[in-house]
Amino acid sequence: MRKPFMAGNWKMNGSISHVKEFIDGFSVSEEVVKTREIVICAPFTLLSLCSEYGAGRKPYIRFGAQNVYFEPKGAFTGEISVAMLKEAGCYCCIIGHSERRQYFGETDATVNKKMNALLDGGVLPVVCVGETLEERESGRTEAVVSGQVKGSVIASAGTKDLAGIVVAYEPVWAIGTGKTATSAQAEEVCSMIRGLLNEALGETVGNGIRILYGGSMNPANVDELMAQPNIDGGLVGGASMKPADFARIASYVE
Ligand code: PEP
Repeated sequence: MRKPFMAGNWKMNGSISHVKEFIDGFSVSEEVVKTREIVICAPFTLLSLCSEYGAGRKPYIRFGAQNVYFEPKGAFTGEISVAMLKEAGCYCCIIGHSERRQYFGETDATVNKKMNALLDGGVLPVVCVGETLEERESGRTEAVVSGQVKGSVIASAGTKDLAGIVVAYEPVWAIGTGKTATSAQAEEVCSMIRGLLNEALGETVGNGIRILYGGSMNPANVDELMAQPNIDGGLVGGASMKPADFARIASYVE
């Protein structure tokens, strides 16, 4: 059984007051707390506060970062190491988000190095993949996404224990656009990703990896997306800033 993983990505949004308002305002049932993982990926500067403020109030919310550098320390001005994330209380870290691939030159090779560093340091990697609109419209979705999964994740088969990592399928054209993939479109790609993982890592590991859908997930579409057999959670941008909306998303109805 894969425990659903409901993660918010605040991107470059939020503030000290927002962290407090969000944690105070977020509320889900005990059943949801028991059966689902709830995560917020906040900007670096807010992570220690999230961990400290959340611990006494909503200890079931876990926190993660949105990027990391793969070297352990040294002359890498502006970068943050896995150990630093751990010290700030991070449970997981998003890597390879399309905004990082698009604006900051992230490649499958750097994402793979980051995944390896996170695994070595004991922080759960959430590896993002997804095609652009142009790639989808030219019939290249499968080729693009499978290339990303192979280059970012499967490249470490045999050298790293990949059991338990998280993969997020996020069609770029659905991120922040209000345009959600239909549940059938999302399931088609998530199921293709599952097939690749099973083939490369064996079914025991592959079937244990949680595959998330991300791209304008909201309270109105979450139930249908989460009903798909290979969608094990969500990576939620805009709607994760509002505690009531994210609580509804985490409380999706089966
Ligand atoms: C994201 O940031 O990963 C995302 C899916 O954003 P949104 O939910 O706003 O589309």
